[in-house]
Amino acid sequence: MGSAASSFLAPITGALEGGRPKLTAERLARRAKQRRQIQSMIGSCFVLDAVVLLVYAHAGTTSVAVATGYALTGLTLVAAYVLLSEIGFHERFRDHYLVAPQSAINMVNLLMFTYIAPEAGVLFLCNLFVVFGFGALRTSARQTAVIWTVMVLGLAALFLWTDKPIGMPTGTMPDRLATMLVFALTIGRCMFLGIFSSSMQQSLYQSGVKLKEAYRRIEELAELDELTGAFNRRCIMRMLEEEIARCERSGSTSAIALIDLDHFKRINDTYGHPIGDEALRTFAISMFANIRSIDRFGRYGGEEFLLVLPDLSQEDAGRALERLRRIIADLDWSAFSPGMQVTISAGVTTLRPNETSDTLLARADRALYTAKARGRNRIASA
Ligand code: GH3
Ligand code: MG
Ligand code: MG
Repeated sequence: MGSAASSFLAPITGALEGGRPKLTAERLARRAKQRRQIQSMIGSCFVLDAVVLLVYAHAGTTSVAVATGYALTGLTLVAAYVLLSEIGFHERFRDHYLVAPQSAINMVNLLMFTYIAPEAGVLFLCNLFVVFGFGALRTSARQTAVIWTVMVLGLAALFLWTDKPIGMPTGTMPDRLATMLVFALTIGRCMFLGIFSSSMQQSLYQSGVKLKEAYRRIEELAELDELTGAFNRRCIMRMLEEEIARCERSGSTSAIALIDLDHFKRINDTYGHPIGDEALRTFAISMFANIRSIDRFGRYGGEEFLLVLPDLSQEDAGRALERLRRIIADLDWSAFSPGMQVTISAGVTTLRPNETSDTLLARADRALYTAKARGRNRIASA
């Protein structure tokens, strides 16, 4: 039921995801199979109803011809539908189950049989509920309104412009049995529709959850640097702008640090690029483990990183960076390759009133240059 319901629902979720998906041969075959399954269900409904009509015929209420005629009409419709489905006709339409036209054709068929055999009218009219219930699961509000209007016109013609006595036979025991079966089958089919629609709801809910998770993941990937897991340049720059705006509003001050790995070209050249990548990753993880949750750490480019430190004065920021510098220098880098050592240099500065990110970063960059010039593995403040 779950998979049948979710496939019945697929075009709805497809529309949510933005238009008609391109279908593979495998998917087309699966859709054709789903249509066959639904048709075999509809076919068996026609056969069951024909059996009930035979009970009416046995009671003398209607003729065997009505029962066989109803079964043959129904099975012919099913066969035509399956044939069209097999030659791919259904795939030309957005709703590949063709629920709206199918509901309309079945409705006309039922009204026609009520006209031909009004003595067993209860069976045909009860089936209208099932056809509508099933159709409404998938047709649009406009389609439903059109089909409903046509049906009301058909019922009006039947009830008001003819004087046919539309029957609910209860005269004999076989009649009573058949009528009881009509209601039992109709209620059973309504129950099936209820279960089917709740299964559809469930699958729609699951699709929503999956979609939300996918969007969250896309957003995350769009913000993170692939190698280090730090925020990427676009994201950390946006965060810096947000922090500057926050400081302007609140009148508080914040610090930033531009951090650069020392002699990283040499590390790559000596130990290889993959080890260089591992060193970048390890550096980033160590940073995340040792900064505050309100600090923002992102890759500014290459082996250069930007750390935004809200609400820190120049001295506090300098102390924080000195602590981070020592942590990186004290890591056991020789675990990557014997003799390997990684250090960082950083330029620290604080935001001045009405300052832009450009001048702030330029000052941090000058401080970083000073730290490098003074021999690396050190912090310089501007
Ligand atoms: P300095 O101490 O002056 O910063 O020297 P440096 O060698 O670190 O500076 P330079 O700018 O000359 O070299 C930076 C190197 O960082 C060169 C580049 O190949 C390397 N690098 C940049 N991005 C990556 C990366 O994603 N992975 C690896 N393995 N290396 C990278
Ligand atoms: Mg460097
Ligand atoms: Mg650099």
